[in-house]
Amino acid sequence: RPTVVFDKVRFGYEKHREILHGLTFAVEAGERVAIVGPSGAGKSTIARLLFRFYDPQAGRILISGKDIRTVTQESLRRHIGVVPQDSVLFNDTIGYNIAYGREGATRGEIEAAARGAAIADFIERLPDGYETEVGERGLKLSGGEKQRVAIARTLLKNPEIILFDEATSALDSRTEQDILKTMRAVARNRTTLTIAHRLSTVADADRILVLDGGKLAESGSHNDLLRMG
Ligand code: ADP
Ligand code: ADP
Repeated sequence: RPTVVFDKVRFGYEKHREILHGLTFAVEAGERVAIVGPSGAGKSTIARLLFRFYDPQAGRILISGKDIRTVTQESLRRHIGVVPQDSVLFNDTIGYNIAYGREGATRGEIEAAARGAAIADFIERLPDGYETEVGERGLKLSGGEKQRVAIARTLLKNPEIILFDEATSALDSRTEQDILKTMRAVARNRTTLTIAHRLSTVADADRILVLDGGKLAESGSHNDLLRMG
């Protein structure tokens, strides 16, 4: 059963200026799908529609078979875990930040999530470990470390689908390569939707959808797309 379905979705922010022109795609359970496209193609719009910041003017969006208009915001956020471009951390402990949204999590679960995000060693070397205060008045984490905390938070939530929304776009190229490696490990045996503007960052996806001008221009594996030019 598909996890996420966009079914003939039409959407515009303003009247007479449609951004998505009847967009249709599905992400099957266990599949790693990527959406790439130039700036302005409508990629962020897809993420905003998934979280119902806006609703489409026509068509439907389904999560695990249910129209997202019929589920609560809470349930939606349980099903979709998002790693955004610039993850914002709370001025609280690093452990709190990882557990955010899963307040009852055990220390073992938090550590497992940190390991999955490849930030456990870093945390365990800090004098206060998981109790270290981060954010404005505490330890300032680098962009890459913040993304790892966001990945750990998402792993701990164990959602049905993980949305990587330009998750490496704000990083320098070396950090980007490191985070992409972690994302690839995370995506193994999981359902993921990755939004990115460069094809090279999503080479491992099972299926890549190329969005251009609010329509799917192509779809296929990385090799298929390279062959098509
Ligand atoms: P991408 O993420 O692929 O760069 P977006 O989804 O951000 O593209 O934008 C798609 C189109 O929608 C662009 O033409 C953009 O200018 C327009 N757009 C995005 N956000 C808004 C908004 N809040 N109000 C009006 N137009 C918007
Ligand atoms: P959690 O479910 O772990 O509590 P959220 O999913 O609520 O975290 O996301 C944290 C913040 O990011 C919220 O303020 C939410 O509005 C915002 N957010 C959620 N999805 C996106 C997205 N695709 N792009 C940008 N911001 C988002």
